[in-house]
Amino acid sequence: MSIQIQRGKAITVDRRTRKTPMGQGLLRGLGVIWKHWSASFQKNDSYKKIQGTFTIEYPEERRQLPEAYRNMPILLYDEQSGHEFCTSCFQCERICPPQVIHMTQAKDPATGKPVPAVESFEIEYDACMSCGLCAEVCPFEAIKMDHTFELSTHDHPSLTVDKTALNRPTTYYAQIAPRMWEEVKENAYKKLAANMKRRSDLIGIAPQMQEQLREQLARAPQAEPAPEAVASASTTADDKAARLAAIRAANAAKRANSENGQAAQGDATQSADDKAARLAAIRAANAAKRAAQQAQASEAPETAPSESASPADDKAARLAAIRAANAAKRAAQQAQASEAPETAASESTSPADEKAARLAAIRAANAAKRAAAAAEKGQEE
Ligand code: SF4
Ligand code: SF4
Repeated sequence: MSIQIQRGKAITVDRRTRKTPMGQGLLRGLGVIWKHWSASFQKNDSYKKIQGTFTIEYPEERRQLPEAYRNMPILLYDEQSGHEFCTSCFQCERICPPQVIHMTQAKDPATGKPVPAVESFEIEYDACMSCGLCAEVCPFEAIKMDHTFELSTHDHPSLTVDKTALNRPTTYYAQIAPRMWEEVKENAYKKLAANMKRRSDLIGIAPQMQEQLREQLARAPQAEPAPEAVASASTTADDKAARLAAIRAANAAKRANSENGQAAQGDATQSADDKAARLAAIRAANAAKRAAQQAQASEAPETAPSESASPADDKAARLAAIRAANAAKRAAQQAQASEAPETAASESTSPADEKAARLAAIRAANAAKRAAAAAEKGQEE
């Protein structure tokens, strides 16, 4: 068939250039009918094999949706850590044309300062127009467009959807849009890792993961009796406590020493028991001083490069604290031993200086005891 068109002239259509033999058109038509009729008994395993117009028997059959198909927005969270990707930056809320997104930012309960996590997040699905602008503008890959479209309901208020209903794990999105997720995945996790550092406790954890994480945290001490990281953290805390107690013992012994010195200046006629008590107190003070010096010496390299890389120093500090405790104990025992004959012999031979010395020695002993207890606790753990 050829068509010749000339301006200002009649259009001539030649329909008879090739003649079909008698009955051949009829046979061709019957062939087409036969082809489609016989194909209707075959199962369609791929739409690519189907040509022409066909019917999908929804809802039994569903057409595969393109990855970029968008219906309603959803929020993503990482199912490993339970953390939500949303940081509550408000960009989606600002750009949403019908203003159907509402959110509040989470705050640190200790400081009251805002943290990069969302406290509450709601979308009015019934007014959302599926424009996808929220998903496009999100810099943290936290909000994506879902493929689910069967949302019809008579319950109108149920279409205002909160964070728990909006949340989906990343595996869900990777299933419906594998290539699109692969493109942004690395960047999303990188940003999430940075934001997780600024979140404390269960802030930023998806509501559906919170109970699971609480149980994990509750089980953690029994399940892991002595993991390396936890042990190093706890020993550091115990070491600090032991050092602090040793320093306190040193200070108490110092005070005992100075009080003894003042007493020595004031009273020249001291008894042998008093001298023994003071000597013991001085020994306790020296031992405690050494403990404090060793603790300080071990503290210096520990704080500079690494908080947990000085087990030898920790042991030395604990050993010194135990020695200080023992020396102070001996001082207290000697002071108490000297007190018995003295009181029996004469009440008038125990002046205020002697009492102060004994009191100081007892204080040093108590402080050193506490140091030893803290050190022993650290060793046990
Ligand atoms: S898809 Fe569009 S209308 Fe719906 S919440 Fe996102 S920005 Fe708003
Ligand atoms: S979903 Fe994205 S854009 Fe919206 S507040 Fe969260 S991080 Fe910001």
